[in-house]
Amino acid sequence: MVLEKKNKELELTGIAASQGITIGKAFLVDKEKIKIPNVKINFDEVSLEVEKFYNCLNQVIEEITELKNKIKEKGEIYKEEILILDMQLLILNDSMISKKTVEIIKEKKINSEWALSITLKNVFKKFEEINDPYIAERKSDIKYVFQRVMNCLMGKKFSKIDEIKKPVILVGHDFSPAETIQMNFSKIKGFITEVGSKTSHTAIIARSQEIPAIVGVANITDIVNGGDDLIIDGFTGNVYVNPSQEIIKKFQKTREEYKVFVNNLIKKKDRRAVTKDGFMVDIYGNIEMPTELESVFEHGGEGVGLFRTEYLYLSKEELPTEEQHFEVYKEIAENTSDKPLVIRTLDVGGDKFLKNYDGEPQLNPAMGLRAIRFCFKEKEIFKLQLKGLLRAGLYGNIKVLFPMVSGPGEFFTIKNIINECKKELKEQKIEFKDDLEIGIMIEIPSAAVIADIFSKYVDFFSIGTNDLIQYTLAIDRLNQDVSYLYEPAHPAVIRLIENTIKAAKNKNIPVNMCGEMAGEVLYLPILLALEIDALSMNPVAIPFVKEIICNMTLKEAKEIYKNIKNLEECKKIEEYLKNILKSKFKDFSFII
Ligand code: PEP
Ligand code: MG
Repeated sequence: MVLEKKNKELELTGIAASQGITIGKAFLVDKEKIKIPNVKINFDEVSLEVEKFYNCLNQVIEEITELKNKIKEKGEIYKEEILILDMQLLILNDSMISKKTVEIIKEKKINSEWALSITLKNVFKKFEEINDPYIAERKSDIKYVFQRVMNCLMGKKFSKIDEIKKPVILVGHDFSPAETIQMNFSKIKGFITEVGSKTSHTAIIARSQEIPAIVGVANITDIVNGGDDLIIDGFTGNVYVNPSQEIIKKFQKTREEYKVFVNNLIKKKDRRAVTKDGFMVDIYGNIEMPTELESVFEHGGEGVGLFRTEYLYLSKEELPTEEQHFEVYKEIAENTSDKPLVIRTLDVGGDKFLKNYDGEPQLNPAMGLRAIRFCFKEKEIFKLQLKGLLRAGLYGNIKVLFPMVSGPGEFFTIKNIINECKKELKEQKIEFKDDLEIGIMIEIPSAAVIADIFSKYVDFFSIGTNDLIQYTLAIDRLNQDVSYLYEPAHPAVIRLIENTIKAAKNKNIPVNMCGEMAGEVLYLPILLALEIDALSMNPVAIPFVKEIICNMTLKEAKEIYKNIKNLEECKKIEEYLKNILKSKFKDFSFII
Protein backbone atom coordinates (compact mmCIF):
# COMPACT_ATOMS: atom_id res chain seq x y z
CA MET A 1 0.00 0.00 0.00
CA VAL A 2 1.38 3.42 -0.95
CA LEU A 3 0.76 6.04 1.67
CA GLU A 4 0.72 9.73 0.91
CA LYS A 5 2.98 10.75 3.71
CA LYS A 6 6.60 9.80 3.30
CA ASN A 7 9.26 9.27 5.90
CA LYS A 8 12.11 11.68 5.95
CA GLU A 9 15.58 10.58 4.95
CA LEU A 10 16.87 7.78 7.21
CA GLU A 11 19.66 5.25 7.37
CA LEU A 12 19.18 1.87 9.08
CA THR A 13 21.43 -1.14 9.51
CA GLY A 14 20.93 -4.88 9.55
CA ILE A 15 22.76 -8.03 8.49
CA ALA A 16 23.79 -8.20 4.84
CA ALA A 17 22.22 -11.48 3.75
CA SER A 18 22.39 -11.38 -0.04
CA GLN A 19 24.81 -9.17 -1.92
CA GLY A 20 23.97 -6.50 -4.49
CA ILE A 21 22.38 -3.06 -4.64
CA THR A 22 18.72 -2.47 -5.23
CA ILE A 23 16.71 0.72 -5.43
CA GLY A 24 12.91 0.67 -5.34
CA LYS A 25 9.64 1.29 -3.55
CA ALA A 26 8.79 -0.39 -0.23
CA PHE A 27 5.95 -2.90 -0.16
CA LEU A 28 5.04 -3.50 3.42
CA VAL A 29 3.89 -7.01 4.08
CA ASP A 30 1.77 -7.84 7.09
CA LYS A 31 1.70 -4.51 8.87
CA GLU A 32 0.17 -1.31 7.60
CA LYS A 33 0.43 1.86 9.57
CA ILE A 34 -2.95 2.18 11.11
CA LYS A 35 -4.34 4.54 13.63
CA ILE A 36 -7.22 2.84 15.37
CA PRO A 37 -10.32 5.07 15.32
CA ASN A 38 -12.04 5.59 18.69
CA VAL A 39 -15.73 6.27 18.08
CA LYS A 40 -18.69 6.26 20.45
CA ILE A 41 -21.78 4.64 18.93
CA ASN A 42 -25.52 4.82 19.59
CA PHE A 43 -27.55 1.97 21.05
CA ASP A 44 -29.11 1.16 17.65
CA GLU A 45 -25.65 0.89 16.05
CA VAL A 46 -24.47 -1.82 18.43
CA SER A 47 -25.83 -4.80 16.50
CA LEU A 48 -24.33 -3.49 13.25
CA GLU A 49 -20.95 -3.11 14.90
CA VAL A 50 -21.14 -6.64 16.34
CA GLU A 51 -22.12 -8.01 12.93
CA LYS A 52 -19.20 -6.16 11.31
CA PHE A 53 -16.84 -7.70 13.84
CA TYR A 54 -18.05 -11.26 13.21
CA ASN A 55 -17.98 -10.74 9.45
CA CYS A 56 -14.33 -9.76 9.58
CA LEU A 57 -13.46 -12.56 11.95
CA ASN A 58 -15.03 -15.06 9.55
CA GLN A 59 -13.37 -13.48 6.54
CA VAL A 60 -9.92 -13.89 8.10
CA ILE A 61 -10.74 -17.50 9.06
CA GLU A 62 -11.71 -18.16 5.44
CA GLU A 63 -8.55 -16.52 4.07
CA ILE A 64 -6.27 -18.52 6.36
CA THR A 65 -8.12 -21.77 5.61
CA GLU A 66 -7.78 -21.08 1.89
CA LEU A 67 -4.04 -20.42 2.26
CA LYS A 68 -3.64 -23.59 4.31
CA ASN A 69 -5.35 -25.69 1.63
CA LYS A 70 -3.20 -24.13 -1.08
CA ILE A 71 -0.02 -24.90 0.84
CA LYS A 72 -1.14 -28.43 1.70
CA GLU A 73 -1.18 -29.22 -2.02
CA LYS A 74 2.48 -28.24 -2.29
CA GLY A 75 3.60 -31.16 -0.16
CA GLU A 76 5.26 -32.28 3.02
CA ILE A 77 8.05 -29.70 2.97
CA TYR A 78 5.55 -27.12 4.31
CA LYS A 79 4.40 -29.21 7.25
CA GLU A 80 5.57 -26.59 9.75
CA GLU A 81 3.74 -23.80 7.93
CA ILE A 82 0.56 -25.81 8.10
CA LEU A 83 1.02 -26.27 11.84
CA ILE A 84 1.38 -22.49 12.21
CA LEU A 85 -1.76 -21.85 10.17
CA ASP A 86 -3.64 -24.44 12.24
CA MET A 87 -2.57 -22.62 15.38
CA GLN A 88 -3.82 -19.32 13.90
CA LEU A 89 -7.18 -20.88 13.07
CA LEU A 90 -7.41 -22.29 16.58
CA ILE A 91 -6.88 -18.81 18.02
CA LEU A 92 -9.47 -17.23 15.72
CA ASN A 93 -12.03 -19.91 16.47
CA ASP A 94 -11.49 -19.66 20.21
CA SER A 95 -14.37 -17.52 21.45
CA MET A 96 -12.51 -15.89 24.36
CA ILE A 97 -11.25 -12.79 22.52
CA SER A 98 -14.28 -12.38 20.27
CA LYS A 99 -16.75 -12.75 23.15
CA LYS A 100 -14.89 -10.17 25.21
CA THR A 101 -14.77 -7.75 22.26
CA VAL A 102 -18.50 -8.03 21.65
CA GLU A 103 -19.15 -7.48 25.37
CA ILE A 104 -17.09 -4.28 25.26
CA ILE A 105 -18.92 -3.04 22.15
CA LYS A 106 -22.23 -3.57 23.93
CA GLU A 107 -21.25 -2.26 27.33
CA LYS A 108 -19.14 0.73 26.37
CA LYS A 109 -21.00 1.54 23.12
CA ILE A 110 -17.85 1.93 21.12
CA ASN A 111 -16.79 0.88 17.62
CA SER A 112 -15.48 -2.65 17.05
CA GLU A 113 -11.89 -1.57 16.27
CA TRP A 114 -11.61 0.25 19.57
CA ALA A 115 -13.24 -2.64 21.44
CA LEU A 116 -10.88 -5.16 19.87
CA SER A 117 -7.86 -3.05 20.73
CA ILE A 118 -8.99 -2.86 24.38
CA THR A 119 -9.49 -6.66 24.53
CA LEU A 120 -6.07 -7.30 23.06
CA LYS A 121 -4.38 -4.84 25.40
CA ASN A 122 -5.92 -6.65 28.40
CA VAL A 123 -4.98 -10.09 27.06
CA PHE A 124 -1.36 -9.04 26.43
CA LYS A 125 -1.11 -7.50 29.89
CA LYS A 126 -1.96 -10.90 31.35
CA PHE A 127 0.60 -12.52 29.05
CA GLU A 128 3.34 -10.26 30.40
CA GLU A 129 2.81 -11.65 33.86
CA ILE A 130 3.62 -15.17 32.62
CA ASN A 131 7.27 -15.85 31.97
CA ASP A 132 6.99 -18.77 29.58
CA PRO A 133 8.48 -18.85 26.07
CA TYR A 134 5.61 -20.98 24.75
CA ILE A 135 3.08 -18.43 25.96
CA ALA A 136 5.20 -15.59 24.54
CA GLU A 137 5.10 -17.31 21.14
CA ARG A 138 1.30 -17.54 21.31
CA LYS A 139 1.20 -13.80 21.99
CA SER A 140 2.77 -13.08 18.62
CA ASP A 141 0.32 -15.48 16.94
CA ILE A 142 -2.63 -13.69 18.54
CA LYS A 143 -1.20 -10.30 17.58
CA TYR A 144 -0.75 -11.43 14.00
CA VAL A 145 -4.21 -12.90 13.43
CA PHE A 146 -6.07 -10.07 15.12
CA GLN A 147 -4.04 -7.52 13.19
CA ARG A 148 -5.64 -9.09 10.12
CA VAL A 149 -9.09 -8.79 11.71
CA MET A 150 -8.30 -5.17 12.55
CA ASN A 151 -7.23 -4.47 8.94
CA CYS A 152 -10.54 -5.87 7.76
CA LEU A 153 -12.56 -3.82 10.27
CA MET A 154 -10.83 -0.69 9.05
CA GLY A 155 -11.50 -1.60 5.43
CA LYS A 156 -7.84 -2.16 4.75
CA LYS A 157 -6.97 -5.10 2.62
CA PHE A 158 -4.14 -7.22 3.94
CA SER A 159 -1.15 -6.87 1.62
CA LYS A 160 -0.85 -10.04 -0.39
CA ILE A 161 2.51 -10.88 -1.83
CA ASP A 162 0.98 -12.63 -4.82
CA GLU A 163 -0.86 -9.45 -5.77
CA ILE A 164 2.26 -7.39 -6.36
CA LYS A 165 1.97 -5.83 -9.80
CA LYS A 166 5.10 -3.67 -10.12
CA PRO A 167 8.63 -4.54 -8.96
CA VAL A 168 9.02 -3.66 -5.26
CA ILE A 169 11.22 -4.20 -2.24
CA LEU A 170 9.46 -6.44 0.25
CA VAL A 171 9.59 -5.27 3.85
CA GLY A 172 8.24 -7.53 6.55
CA HIS A 173 8.82 -9.06 9.93
CA ASP A 174 9.97 -12.25 8.20
CA PHE A 175 8.86 -14.28 5.21
CA SER A 176 7.90 -17.86 5.84
CA PRO A 177 8.38 -20.68 3.33
CA ALA A 178 4.59 -20.54 2.88
CA GLU A 179 4.89 -16.91 1.78
CA THR A 180 7.93 -17.36 -0.39
CA ILE A 181 6.31 -20.12 -2.46
CA GLN A 182 3.64 -17.62 -3.46
CA MET A 183 6.22 -15.09 -4.62
CA ASN A 184 6.76 -14.06 -8.19
CA PHE A 185 10.48 -13.32 -7.97
CA SER A 186 10.50 -11.25 -11.16
CA LYS A 187 8.51 -8.63 -9.20
CA ILE A 188 10.76 -8.63 -6.16
CA LYS A 189 13.80 -6.36 -6.20
CA GLY A 190 14.86 -6.97 -2.62
CA PHE A 191 13.96 -8.22 0.83
CA ILE A 192 14.24 -6.52 4.19
CA THR A 193 13.18 -8.31 7.36
CA GLU A 194 13.15 -7.48 11.05
CA VAL A 195 14.49 -10.85 12.14
CA GLY A 196 16.72 -13.58 10.76
CA SER A 197 20.32 -14.49 10.20
CA LYS A 198 22.52 -15.29 7.20
CA THR A 199 21.22 -18.86 7.28
CA SER A 200 17.52 -18.02 7.69
CA HIS A 201 15.05 -19.09 5.06
CA THR A 202 14.65 -15.61 3.51
CA ALA A 203 18.43 -15.17 3.27
CA ILE A 204 18.87 -18.53 1.53
CA ILE A 205 16.04 -17.88 -0.93
CA ALA A 206 17.34 -14.37 -1.67
CA ARG A 207 20.85 -15.66 -2.40
CA SER A 208 19.65 -18.44 -4.67
CA GLN A 209 17.44 -15.97 -6.57
CA GLU A 210 20.25 -13.35 -6.66
CA ILE A 211 18.01 -10.78 -4.95
CA PRO A 212 19.76 -8.30 -2.56
CA ALA A 213 18.54 -8.75 1.00
CA ILE A 214 19.07 -7.41 4.50
CA VAL A 215 17.78 -9.22 7.55
CA GLY A 216 17.57 -8.27 11.21
CA VAL A 217 16.64 -4.57 10.75
CA ALA A 218 14.88 -4.00 14.06
CA ASN A 219 11.39 -2.48 13.82
CA ILE A 220 11.65 -1.72 10.11
CA THR A 221 7.92 -2.34 9.65
CA ASP A 222 7.23 0.42 12.18
CA ILE A 223 9.68 2.81 10.58
CA VAL A 224 9.05 2.38 6.87
CA ASN A 225 5.79 3.24 5.10
CA GLY A 226 4.52 1.44 2.03
CA GLY A 227 5.69 3.40 -1.02
CA ASP A 228 8.78 4.86 0.65
CA ASP A 229 11.83 4.96 -1.61
CA LEU A 230 14.44 2.49 -0.41
CA ILE A 231 17.99 1.53 -1.23
CA ILE A 232 19.30 -1.84 -0.09
CA ASP A 233 23.06 -2.06 0.17
CA GLY A 234 23.39 -5.84 0.32
CA PHE A 235 27.15 -5.54 0.81
CA THR A 236 27.16 -3.55 4.04
CA GLY A 237 23.70 -4.26 5.43
CA ASN A 238 22.61 -0.61 5.19
CA VAL A 239 19.09 0.46 4.27
CA TYR A 240 18.43 4.02 3.07
CA VAL A 241 14.88 5.28 3.48
CA ASN A 242 13.80 8.10 1.16
CA PRO A 243 17.39 8.92 0.29
CA SER A 244 18.50 12.17 -1.31
CA GLN A 245 19.13 12.35 -5.06
CA GLU A 246 22.82 12.48 -4.27
CA ILE A 247 22.71 9.13 -2.44
CA ILE A 248 20.52 7.57 -5.13
CA LYS A 249 23.05 8.61 -7.79
CA LYS A 250 25.92 7.21 -5.75
CA PHE A 251 24.22 3.82 -5.44
CA GLN A 252 23.11 3.77 -9.06
CA LYS A 253 26.76 4.13 -9.94
CA THR A 254 27.78 1.33 -7.52
CA ARG A 255 25.05 -0.90 -8.90
CA GLU A 256 26.34 -0.41 -12.46
CA GLU A 257 29.94 -1.00 -11.39
CA TYR A 258 28.94 -4.21 -9.62
CA LYS A 259 27.08 -5.42 -12.71
CA VAL A 260 30.17 -4.84 -14.84
CA PHE A 261 32.35 -6.58 -12.21
CA VAL A 262 30.10 -9.67 -12.10
CA ASN A 263 29.74 -9.83 -15.89
CA ASN A 264 33.50 -9.72 -16.30
CA LEU A 265 33.89 -12.59 -13.86
CA ILE A 266 31.18 -14.63 -15.60
CA LYS A 267 33.07 -14.20 -18.88
CA LYS A 268 36.01 -16.04 -17.30
CA LYS A 269 33.84 -18.74 -15.69
CA ASP A 270 35.23 -21.64 -17.68
CA ARG A 271 38.85 -21.31 -16.61
CA ARG A 272 40.14 -23.75 -14.00
CA ALA A 273 40.83 -22.48 -10.49
CA VAL A 274 44.64 -22.62 -10.50
CA THR A 275 46.86 -20.44 -8.31
CA LYS A 276 49.61 -18.45 -9.98
CA ASP A 277 52.12 -21.03 -8.79
CA GLY A 278 50.13 -23.94 -10.19
CA PHE A 279 47.99 -25.36 -7.38
CA MET A 280 44.59 -26.41 -8.75
CA VAL A 281 41.30 -26.74 -6.90
CA ASP A 282 38.23 -28.40 -8.46
CA ILE A 283 35.17 -26.18 -8.25
CA TYR A 284 31.72 -27.72 -8.05
CA GLY A 285 28.15 -26.56 -7.47
CA ASN A 286 25.67 -27.60 -4.76
CA ILE A 287 22.15 -28.43 -5.93
CA GLU A 288 18.90 -29.43 -4.30
CA MET A 289 16.85 -30.10 -7.42
CA PRO A 290 17.94 -31.56 -10.77
CA THR A 291 16.73 -28.34 -12.47
CA GLU A 292 19.55 -26.42 -10.77
CA LEU A 293 22.18 -28.30 -12.75
CA GLU A 294 22.00 -25.69 -15.51
CA SER A 295 22.97 -22.93 -13.09
CA VAL A 296 26.06 -24.92 -12.03
CA PHE A 297 27.38 -24.96 -15.62
CA GLU A 298 26.27 -21.38 -16.35
CA HIS A 299 28.45 -20.21 -13.46
CA GLY A 300 31.46 -22.33 -14.40
CA GLY A 301 31.00 -25.35 -12.11
CA GLU A 302 33.02 -28.41 -13.05
CA GLY A 303 30.48 -30.88 -11.73
CA VAL A 304 28.16 -31.32 -8.77
CA GLY A 305 29.87 -31.59 -5.40
CA LEU A 306 26.66 -32.04 -3.44
CA PHE A 307 23.23 -33.10 -4.63
CA ARG A 308 20.95 -33.02 -1.60
CA THR A 309 18.27 -35.62 -2.34
CA GLU A 310 15.69 -34.64 0.28
CA TYR A 311 13.44 -32.98 -2.33
CA LEU A 312 12.67 -36.45 -3.74
CA TYR A 313 11.10 -37.40 -0.44
CA LEU A 314 9.52 -34.12 0.59
CA SER A 315 7.83 -33.07 -2.64
CA LYS A 316 5.32 -35.95 -2.67
CA GLU A 317 2.97 -37.84 -0.38
CA GLU A 318 4.50 -41.25 -1.02
CA LEU A 319 8.08 -42.34 -0.64
CA PRO A 320 10.06 -42.62 -3.89
CA THR A 321 10.36 -46.14 -5.30
CA GLU A 322 13.67 -47.73 -6.32
CA GLU A 323 12.68 -47.10 -9.95
CA GLN A 324 12.02 -43.40 -9.29
CA HIS A 325 15.37 -43.03 -7.55
CA PHE A 326 17.08 -44.75 -10.46
CA GLU A 327 15.35 -42.57 -13.10
CA VAL A 328 16.18 -39.27 -11.35
CA TYR A 329 19.85 -40.16 -10.76
CA LYS A 330 20.27 -41.64 -14.24
CA GLU A 331 18.90 -38.52 -15.90
CA ILE A 332 21.05 -36.14 -13.90
CA ALA A 333 24.11 -38.36 -14.40
CA GLU A 334 23.58 -38.31 -18.15
CA ASN A 335 23.20 -34.51 -18.10
CA THR A 336 26.39 -34.15 -16.07
CA SER A 337 28.15 -36.49 -18.57
CA ASP A 338 31.56 -37.53 -17.32
CA LYS A 339 31.85 -34.74 -14.73
CA PRO A 340 31.70 -35.72 -11.07
CA LEU A 341 28.23 -35.97 -9.55
CA VAL A 342 28.24 -36.45 -5.79
CA ILE A 343 24.83 -37.62 -4.59
CA ARG A 344 24.16 -37.49 -0.87
CA THR A 345 21.77 -39.99 0.68
CA LEU A 346 18.72 -38.87 2.62
CA ASP A 347 19.30 -36.29 5.36
CA VAL A 348 15.91 -35.89 7.03
CA GLY A 349 15.08 -35.50 10.69
CA GLY A 350 16.96 -32.26 11.48
CA ASP A 351 14.66 -29.57 10.15
CA LYS A 352 12.95 -31.63 7.43
CA PHE A 353 10.48 -34.39 8.22
CA LEU A 354 8.89 -37.12 6.15
CA LYS A 355 5.17 -37.03 5.66
CA ASN A 356 3.28 -40.07 6.88
CA TYR A 357 6.20 -41.06 9.09
CA ASP A 358 5.01 -41.77 12.59
CA GLY A 359 8.29 -41.22 14.38
CA GLU A 360 8.21 -39.78 17.87
CA PRO A 361 8.59 -35.98 17.96
CA GLN A 362 12.16 -35.29 19.07
CA LEU A 363 13.19 -32.77 21.66
CA ASN A 364 16.47 -32.09 19.95
CA PRO A 365 16.09 -33.09 16.31
CA ALA A 366 19.55 -31.87 15.18
CA MET A 367 21.07 -34.43 17.53
CA GLY A 368 18.35 -37.01 17.17
CA LEU A 369 17.15 -39.45 14.56
CA ARG A 370 18.63 -37.53 11.64
CA ALA A 371 20.27 -38.51 8.34
CA ILE A 372 22.15 -41.84 8.46
CA ARG A 373 20.65 -42.65 11.87
CA PHE A 374 17.18 -42.39 10.39
CA CYS A 375 18.27 -44.54 7.42
CA PHE A 376 19.55 -47.30 9.72
CA LYS A 377 16.25 -47.31 11.58
CA GLU A 378 14.30 -47.34 8.31
CA LYS A 379 16.59 -49.70 6.43
CA GLU A 380 14.06 -50.60 3.73
CA ILE A 381 13.60 -46.91 2.80
CA PHE A 382 17.40 -46.55 2.72
CA LYS A 383 17.85 -49.63 0.52
CA LEU A 384 15.50 -48.26 -2.14
CA GLN A 385 17.76 -45.22 -2.52
CA LEU A 386 20.96 -47.27 -2.46
CA LYS A 387 19.71 -49.63 -5.16
CA GLY A 388 18.65 -46.68 -7.33
CA LEU A 389 22.13 -45.20 -6.89
CA LEU A 390 23.95 -48.46 -7.63
CA ARG A 391 21.96 -48.86 -10.85
CA ALA A 392 22.32 -45.24 -11.97
CA GLY A 393 26.08 -45.52 -11.37
CA LEU A 394 26.35 -47.14 -14.81
CA TYR A 395 25.27 -43.90 -16.50
CA GLY A 396 27.74 -41.30 -15.29
CA ASN A 397 30.41 -40.35 -12.80
CA ILE A 398 28.29 -40.85 -9.66
CA LYS A 399 29.83 -40.91 -6.19
CA VAL A 400 27.72 -41.52 -3.11
CA LEU A 401 28.03 -39.42 0.02
CA PHE A 402 26.70 -40.35 3.46
CA PRO A 403 25.67 -37.63 5.93
CA MET A 404 26.11 -37.46 9.73
CA VAL A 405 28.53 -40.35 10.13
CA SER A 406 30.07 -40.08 13.60
CA GLY A 407 32.18 -43.22 13.93
CA PRO A 408 33.64 -46.06 11.81
CA GLY A 409 31.04 -48.57 13.03
CA GLU A 410 28.39 -46.62 11.16
CA PHE A 411 30.47 -46.73 8.03
CA PHE A 412 30.83 -50.51 8.28
CA THR A 413 27.05 -50.79 8.68
CA ILE A 414 26.62 -48.70 5.52
CA LYS A 415 28.95 -51.05 3.65
CA ASN A 416 27.03 -54.09 4.86
CA ILE A 417 23.74 -52.61 3.70
CA ILE A 418 25.28 -51.76 0.32
CA ASN A 419 26.45 -55.38 0.00
CA GLU A 420 22.95 -56.59 0.83
CA CYS A 421 21.59 -54.34 -1.92
CA LYS A 422 24.14 -55.65 -4.42
CA LYS A 423 23.28 -59.23 -3.56
CA GLU A 424 19.57 -58.59 -4.07
CA LEU A 425 20.15 -56.80 -7.38
CA LYS A 426 22.30 -59.70 -8.56
CA GLU A 427 19.57 -62.17 -7.63
CA GLN A 428 17.11 -60.09 -9.62
CA LYS A 429 19.61 -59.95 -12.51
CA ILE A 430 19.57 -56.15 -12.49
CA GLU A 431 22.77 -54.44 -13.63
CA PHE A 432 24.58 -52.03 -11.33
CA LYS A 433 27.96 -50.43 -10.81
CA ASP A 434 29.93 -52.63 -8.48
CA ASP A 435 32.72 -50.19 -7.62
CA LEU A 436 30.74 -47.03 -6.95
CA GLU A 437 32.90 -44.60 -4.95
CA ILE A 438 31.56 -43.96 -1.47
CA GLY A 439 32.49 -41.13 0.86
CA ILE A 440 31.33 -39.51 4.07
CA MET A 441 30.43 -36.02 5.13
CA ILE A 442 32.77 -34.74 7.78
CA GLU A 443 30.23 -32.70 9.68
CA ILE A 444 30.28 -34.10 13.19
CA PRO A 445 33.33 -33.12 15.26
CA SER A 446 34.03 -36.75 16.21
CA ALA A 447 34.44 -37.64 12.52
CA ALA A 448 36.88 -34.78 12.01
CA VAL A 449 38.91 -35.81 15.05
CA ILE A 450 39.25 -39.42 13.87
CA ALA A 451 39.51 -38.59 10.16
CA ASP A 452 42.71 -40.69 10.12
CA ILE A 453 40.68 -43.80 11.00
CA PHE A 454 37.99 -43.06 8.44
CA SER A 455 40.60 -42.36 5.76
CA LYS A 456 41.53 -46.05 5.79
CA TYR A 457 38.05 -47.08 4.69
CA VAL A 458 36.33 -44.37 2.62
CA ASP A 459 36.94 -43.22 -0.95
CA PHE A 460 36.62 -39.50 -0.18
CA PHE A 461 35.68 -36.88 2.40
CA SER A 462 33.36 -33.92 2.03
CA ILE A 463 33.53 -31.36 4.82
CA GLY A 464 30.08 -30.03 5.74
CA THR A 465 30.89 -26.85 7.58
CA ASN A 466 27.25 -25.88 8.13
CA ASP A 467 26.85 -28.72 10.58
CA LEU A 468 30.49 -29.00 11.62
CA ILE A 469 30.29 -25.43 12.96
CA GLN A 470 26.88 -26.05 14.53
CA TYR A 471 28.08 -29.11 16.44
CA THR A 472 31.58 -27.88 17.28
CA LEU A 473 30.51 -24.53 18.65
CA ALA A 474 27.13 -25.74 20.01
CA ILE A 475 25.23 -23.21 17.93
CA ASP A 476 21.81 -24.10 16.60
CA ARG A 477 22.20 -23.10 12.96
CA LEU A 478 18.53 -22.10 12.75
CA ASN A 479 18.52 -19.88 15.83
CA GLN A 480 18.98 -16.20 14.99
CA ASP A 481 19.81 -15.28 18.57
CA VAL A 482 23.06 -17.22 18.48
CA SER A 483 23.89 -16.69 14.82
CA TYR A 484 26.56 -14.13 15.76
CA LEU A 485 28.55 -17.04 17.23
CA TYR A 486 28.51 -18.96 13.96
CA GLU A 487 32.18 -18.49 13.10
CA PRO A 488 33.83 -20.46 10.30
CA ALA A 489 37.22 -19.01 11.26
CA HIS A 490 36.94 -20.11 14.88
CA PRO A 491 40.30 -21.73 15.73
CA ALA A 492 38.52 -24.93 16.81
CA VAL A 493 36.78 -25.22 13.45
CA ILE A 494 39.98 -24.50 11.55
CA ARG A 495 41.84 -27.19 13.52
CA LEU A 496 39.18 -29.77 12.69
CA ILE A 497 39.32 -28.85 9.01
CA GLU A 498 43.12 -29.08 9.04
CA ASN A 499 43.00 -32.44 10.77
CA THR A 500 40.56 -33.78 8.19
CA ILE A 501 42.55 -32.56 5.19
CA LYS A 502 45.83 -33.87 6.61
CA ALA A 503 44.30 -37.31 7.24
CA ALA A 504 42.95 -37.42 3.70
CA LYS A 505 46.31 -36.44 2.25
CA ASN A 506 48.13 -39.10 4.27
CA LYS A 507 45.96 -41.77 2.73
CA ASN A 508 45.79 -40.05 -0.65
CA ILE A 509 42.03 -39.75 -0.77
CA PRO A 510 40.36 -36.57 -2.14
CA VAL A 511 38.81 -34.05 0.22
CA ASN A 512 36.09 -31.61 -0.77
CA MET A 513 34.28 -28.93 1.22
CA CYS A 514 30.56 -28.49 0.50
CA GLY A 515 29.37 -26.30 3.39
CA GLU A 516 28.68 -22.56 2.91
CA MET A 517 32.23 -21.74 3.99
CA ALA A 518 33.51 -23.10 0.65
CA GLY A 519 31.82 -20.26 -1.24
CA GLU A 520 32.90 -17.42 1.04
CA VAL A 521 35.94 -15.78 -0.50
CA LEU A 522 37.23 -14.54 2.85
CA TYR A 523 38.22 -18.04 3.93
CA LEU A 524 39.89 -19.12 0.69
CA PRO A 525 43.47 -18.45 1.86
CA ILE A 526 42.92 -20.94 4.71
CA LEU A 527 41.48 -23.63 2.44
CA LEU A 528 44.19 -23.08 -0.17
CA ALA A 529 46.97 -23.22 2.40
CA LEU A 530 45.63 -26.56 3.58
CA GLU A 531 45.63 -27.71 -0.05
CA ILE A 532 42.01 -28.74 -0.18
CA ASP A 533 41.24 -30.69 -3.37
CA ALA A 534 37.80 -29.35 -4.18
CA LEU A 535 35.23 -26.76 -3.16
CA SER A 536 31.51 -27.09 -3.78
CA MET A 537 29.19 -24.13 -3.36
CA ASN A 538 26.05 -22.21 -4.29
CA PRO A 539 26.60 -21.87 -8.09
CA VAL A 540 26.36 -18.06 -7.91
CA ALA A 541 29.57 -17.95 -5.83
CA ILE A 542 31.68 -19.92 -8.33
CA PRO A 543 33.01 -17.01 -10.49
CA PHE A 544 34.11 -15.07 -7.38
CA VAL A 545 35.96 -18.03 -5.92
CA LYS A 546 37.73 -18.78 -9.20
CA GLU A 547 38.91 -15.17 -9.53
CA ILE A 548 40.49 -15.15 -6.05
CA ILE A 549 42.20 -18.51 -6.50
CA CYS A 550 43.57 -17.58 -9.94
CA ASN A 551 45.13 -14.42 -8.53
CA MET A 552 46.85 -15.86 -5.48
CA THR A 553 49.82 -18.10 -4.98
CA LEU A 554 49.85 -21.15 -2.75
CA LYS A 555 52.95 -19.68 -1.14
CA GLU A 556 51.07 -16.52 -0.20
CA ALA A 557 48.15 -18.53 1.20
CA LYS A 558 50.53 -20.60 3.35
CA GLU A 559 52.15 -17.43 4.68
CA ILE A 560 48.72 -16.04 5.59
CA TYR A 561 47.77 -19.30 7.28
CA LYS A 562 50.99 -19.30 9.29
CA ASN A 563 50.09 -15.88 10.65
CA ILE A 564 46.50 -16.92 11.34
CA LYS A 565 47.73 -19.74 13.51
CA ASN A 566 49.19 -17.16 15.84
CA LEU A 567 45.87 -15.38 16.24
CA GLU A 568 43.68 -16.80 18.95
CA GLU A 569 40.42 -15.05 18.28
CA CYS A 570 38.06 -15.50 15.39
CA LYS A 571 37.39 -11.74 15.13
CA LYS A 572 41.12 -11.08 14.76
CA ILE A 573 41.46 -13.79 12.12
CA GLU A 574 38.58 -12.35 10.13
CA GLU A 575 39.94 -8.82 10.41
CA TYR A 576 43.37 -9.98 9.26
CA LEU A 577 41.91 -11.88 6.29
CA LYS A 578 39.74 -8.90 5.35
CA ASN A 579 42.68 -6.51 5.35
CA ILE A 580 44.82 -8.77 3.21
CA LEU A 581 42.12 -9.57 0.66
CA LYS A 582 40.92 -5.96 0.54
CA SER A 583 44.34 -4.64 -0.35
CA LYS A 584 45.03 -7.43 -2.83
CA PHE A 585 41.65 -7.56 -4.56
CA LYS A 586 40.54 -3.95 -4.88
CA ASP A 587 37.67 -4.93 -7.24
CA PHE A 588 36.27 -7.13 -4.51
CA SER A 589 35.65 -4.13 -2.26
CA PHE A 590 31.95 -4.87 -2.88
CA ILE A 591 32.00 -8.13 -0.99
CA ILE A 592 35.00 -8.09 1.31
C1 PEP B 1 26.75 -29.03 5.76
O1 PEP B 1 26.33 -29.44 6.85
O2 PEP B 1 27.70 -28.24 5.64
C2 PEP B 1 26.08 -29.43 4.52
C3 PEP B 1 26.58 -29.13 3.35
O3 PEP B 1 24.91 -30.12 4.62
P1 PEP B 1 23.49 -29.48 4.98
O4 PEP B 1 23.62 -27.99 4.89
O5 PEP B 1 22.55 -30.08 4.00
O6 PEP B 1 23.28 -29.98 6.36
MG1 MG C 1 24.97 -31.10 6.98
